[in-house]
Amino acid sequence: MVGQNKRQRILIVDDSSFNISILGEALSDEYDISVAKNGEEAIAIVGSDKRPDLILLDIVMPRMDGYETIHLLKSDDGTMDIPVIFITSMTEEEDETRGLAMGAVDYITKPFSTPIVKARVRTHLELKRKTDMLQNLSAMDGLTGIPNRRKFDETFEEEWRRSVREKGVISVIMMDIDYFKKYNDNYGHGEGDRCLRLVSSALDGTLNRASDMVARYGGEEFIAILPGTDGPTAVVMAETMRRNVEKQNIAHAHSECADHVTISVGVASTRPVMGMARSDLIKGADQMLYQAKQAGRNRVEKTELEND
Ligand code: GH3
Ligand code: MG
Ligand code: MG
Repeated sequence: MVGQNKRQRILIVDDSSFNISILGEALSDEYDISVAKNGEEAIAIVGSDKRPDLILLDIVMPRMDGYETIHLLKSDDGTMDIPVIFITSMTEEEDETRGLAMGAVDYITKPFSTPIVKARVRTHLELKRKTDMLQNLSAMDGLTGIPNRRKFDETFEEEWRRSVREKGVISVIMMDIDYFKKYNDNYGHGEGDRCLRLVSSALDGTLNRASDMVARYGGEEFIAILPGTDGPTAVVMAETMRRNVEKQNIAHAHSECADHVTISVGVASTRPVMGMARSDLIKGADQMLYQAKQAGRNRVEKTELEND
């Protein structure tokens, strides 16, 4: 999660080294600074691990100008939320109107006053921090701190499309705590909540690839997506998750399959092609989970979906 007090990063895009150094000097004590001399460099930095929280963008630059740069930024899902402030010597009303219509949050004309630039930058960065916080909250499950179903659906859609495009494999793992109603009934809802937190941290702690994700799918149900992971490997991961939950050794005297908390697990894998419904992969994992329950719980069942 984005730390509340993490220093924010500003990208300054200007073809004049003089402007860059004045702005950089004014802002570098409060913020981390990246610089670009033209639009192409700016786009490259935005796509790197130095993703800025705010962009100060000049309009008149060689090759790719500020208008073209903001157009590219605003038409990409991954960068459209980064606020852009134009800082420019174009002072006509129609220039400013055009800049704001293209999605800039503010427009500052040169020569600029340093204290005013600092004040406006601060306002927009505070707003950005709040927007980021809300976005994180709405993607996170409040009880367990792992992603929620909404976030899962969004990520699954993206990863599915990527798999189709790259002709890769993808796996989904569905998990459900065994006899959890009995756990709640006997230990109380508060202990039930604590159990959910422990289970989710065991599941989350099992995943090691950056693209793997486990989410809380419903009450005591969890779901994991493993892009680029084939069936046999996903089964190994699922088995490790099941074992890591057992290792927590959470006493459950009223379980009918063990004396501690366990999960049942369904795995579905495929190499998706265009026209295939991604909901079928979830259905497959759900059916395998049902099968695991039927077969006695605390186990993993798997299926491979054919794509022709
Ligand atoms: P099975 O082994 O077949 O999965 O049986 P089960 O008892 O786990 O399944 P069932 O669906 O009957 O019960 C799920 C229970 O999960 C019922 C509900 O009270 C509990 N539950 C769902 N969400 C929460 C939650 O946020 N906190 C707590 N403490 N309990 C929850
Ligand atoms: Mg259950
Ligand atoms: Mg259930």
